[in-house]
Amino acid sequence: MKTSKALVLFSGGQDSTICVAWALERFNHVETVGFDYGQRHASELAARPRVLAGLRDGFSHWAARLGPDHLLPLDTLKAIGGSALTETMAIEMGAHGLPNTFVPGRNVMFLTAAAALGYRRDIADLVGGMCETDFSGYPDCRNNTIQATAKALSLGLARDIRIHTPLMWIDKAATWALADALGGKALLDLVLEETVTCYEGDHSRRHDWGYGCGVCPSCKLRADGYAKFRAA
Ligand code: ZN
Repeated sequence: MKTSKALVLFSGGQDSTICVAWALERFNHVETVGFDYGQRHASELAARPRVLAGLRDGFSHWAARLGPDHLLPLDTLKAIGGSALTETMAIEMGAHGLPNTFVPGRNVMFLTAAAALGYRRDIADLVGGMCETDFSGYPDCRNNTIQATAKALSLGLARDIRIHTPLMWIDKAATWALADALGGKALLDLVLEETVTCYEGDHSRRHDWGYGCGVCPSCKLRADGYAKFRAA
């Protein structure tokens, strides 16, 4: 059988963890890449090896498919600054109608770095958790941006780069349902226990929907989605 390979943009959060599971169901060799961009909270990056170990240990049919994990520095984003994710500032509405958690250019940079790494690793299929269904309005999460980036990367690397975004058109409740469909209770438990999506990086307060500060926009989205998933 021909080896199909994918490289998943993996932050250690809920969405990208479910994307890794999604890729493991579809490709027979899956590598992961994370980015150290000077995010204020290290807890998200710290979650990555725990989640990968959980996928390896808890799902024998996926373990053989899970390849190397990569961590790339992108501290340019920290040097540019101005975001509540890279600097100590309160989360609030910022310029251009976007919350100040927006990190300009982040996803385009991530995808460019991932495609370059994929070029070296002979992987042309990238997977990312971008979603424009119940998002914060970040323009670089939109499908048009992602597919235009795939086109630019395909031209710039002279190979066909495909970017898969399995969460693009589903809300957070459906994302939990997708995790359930892919890996059942074991995957739901792994997402609940180990992933960090909180903007404050809180992995100390446990709620029924997992860990987080419980008040930041990211925790609210996760909590509301989980409640809707459980009520369905
Ligand atoms: Zn939070």
